[in-house]
Amino acid sequence: MPEMKVTIDTDSGFCFGVKRAIELAESSLEQNRDLYCLGDIVHNKAEIKRLSEKGLVTTDRKSFRNRKSGQILFRAHGEPPSSYDIIKKNKLSLIDATCPIVRKLQERIKKTWASLSECNGQLVIYGNPDHPEIIGLQGQAENHAIIVSDPSDISEIDPARPVELFSQTTKSTEEYRRLEKNIREKMQQHFSQDEMPLKVHKTICGQISRRTPLIRKFAGSHDVIVFAGGSQSSNARVLFGQCRDANPRSWFVSHPDEVEKEWLTGASTAGVCGATSTPLWLMEKVAERIRDLTGTANSQDGNVSRTEP
Ligand code: SF4
Repeated sequence: MPEMKVTIDTDSGFCFGVKRAIELAESSLEQNRDLYCLGDIVHNKAEIKRLSEKGLVTTDRKSFRNRKSGQILFRAHGEPPSSYDIIKKNKLSLIDATCPIVRKLQERIKKTWASLSECNGQLVIYGNPDHPEIIGLQGQAENHAIIVSDPSDISEIDPARPVELFSQTTKSTEEYRRLEKNIREKMQQHFSQDEMPLKVHKTICGQISRRTPLIRKFAGSHDVIVFAGGSQSSNARVLFGQCRDANPRSWFVSHPDEVEKEWLTGASTAGVCGATSTPLWLMEKVAERIRDLTGTANSQDGNVSRTEP
């Protein structure tokens, strides 16, 4: 196989919310304090393993409810009010790593829910009902928000009543627009366009929406793309979909060993990218694996490049 130029996408990797949560966890672990994270700190098994080796324990909701001592970390996705009640009731110590963007969204939802109950309105959130961010947002609406996971399934929405629409921060902008269009069409049976009581809140995180055109450009400018991400990550699914659309020779891996030699046949450039939950070290390992498979010289020879931002 001829030598290959391997480039890591400098716009991929942890968003600032995830970076902040991991820094908070690491600085607490450095002080040798027990730290229990409620749910996976990031949707990436390799990074969870790295942090667990430093002492971070991932705990589930049941054990959290029963815990009477120790330090708890709330991850970037945020938590519903009921989790804060448990912290208070069980006198636990809390490191709250809720991303400031998610926190603002929670506040907006809480406020909107209070005003909608006065006009018989519906609060609709586009997202995955099992996603931790959605569980946190649903809690702000006293668990009465309508969660739509597929833009084509809006059967729960009553078109004759007002709607305020929000999105999980990591969803695709295009899909969110498609959902808005579908709701508008449904509400047209009862309202004219001018009078339609539908308010759409722009709540997809800029760290996500900005990445879409950048990752498409990156994918389109390489012969082959290897995308590193966690299979549970919503953002990884969205961004990988964009890569594949821009470059059909795009492959998804969760671990460097999953890269197959035949994917690289005939390619002279390979791009390595990832999601907001993908650590840089994982992308570097994937690049190293590509280099090994293709017999390409190491980074000291300049064949693995990473331009600093
Ligand atoms: S994607 Fe955006 S909102 Fe979500 S954790 Fe990252 S920075 Fe925060």
